[in-house]
Amino acid sequence: MSASVLRIDGLRVKVAGTEILRGVDLEVRSGEVHALMGPNGSGKSTLSHALMGRGDYEVTGGSVTIDGEELLGLPTWERARRGLFLAMQYPVEVPGVPIDALVGAALRAAGRADGEAARELVAAEARALGLREELLRRGVNDEYSGGEQKRAETVQLAVLRPRFAVLDEIDSGLDVDALRDVARRIARLAAEQGLGVLAITHYARLLSELRPDRVHVLLAGRVVLSGGPELADRLEERGYEGIAAEVGVDELTVGVPRPPEPFADPTAGSDPFADPFA
Ligand code: ADP
Ligand code: MG
Repeated sequence: MSASVLRIDGLRVKVAGTEILRGVDLEVRSGEVHALMGPNGSGKSTLSHALMGRGDYEVTGGSVTIDGEELLGLPTWERARRGLFLAMQYPVEVPGVPIDALVGAALRAAGRADGEAARELVAAEARALGLREELLRRGVNDEYSGGEQKRAETVQLAVLRPRFAVLDEIDSGLDVDALRDVARRIARLAAEQGLGVLAITHYARLLSELRPDRVHVLLAGRVVLSGGPELADRLEERGYEGIAAEVGVDELTVGVPRPPEPFADPTAGSDPFADPFA
């Protein structure tokens, strides 16, 4: 596979009227593993959704290219066809559509495999990643546990072989053994297939297995610091607050808190005994 470059330049994104990304610059080349670290609410998932073209994320500036070709404005399937893959932090359930059907459709569209071959590829990767065979008969992510979802995302990644993968907290919900399997599979895809990886995480734990070439820190919608793998250790020591103080940034997060969950206690945060007529 020839070498490619994913380039994110001055990317600005608004969600629900609030600017969440305020000029993000990143460049990932084939075979490189980059880690993007940031506290909750710093805009990591917003970046992943904007890269993949989610409709309710309004891009207000900047560009995203693969080998100089603009991706912004293209529909999601077209971005996937150009080699971009996203493992979502909260993967979507697709009841009734098993992994091999989903992946098989993509491989057929790319002229890479027929249905039978797709089934075999999926089964082999599932075995290697410890994803129970029974799950392959269910719809993708249908009643999967958090850890099973992350293994399943990795199975799809390994079979689809995109040029670049954005992995949004692929480590969350995985126990130590599963984390090692997933990280090693991804590292091998980078080393052997030239996959370019942007691994989003807020724990250094993932990075002890998935050794990154570069580490970037996202605070309040901007990459404020980039460095080698030692930056993850520095983060572990000083925390995001410490790094923010070092680089002279006083905000860690952006935007407004999410609206409350629909089933949350409506009185939470307010005083239930307050006089309503006061
Ligand atoms: P992270 O992944 O780093 O935790 P997110 O990108 O999920 O951060 O969120 C960044 C900010 O954007 C937060 O303030 C969050 O509430 C807001 N946000 C993200 N997605 C939405 C959305 N769909 N609607 C409203 N606000 C959102
Ligand atoms: Mg997130």
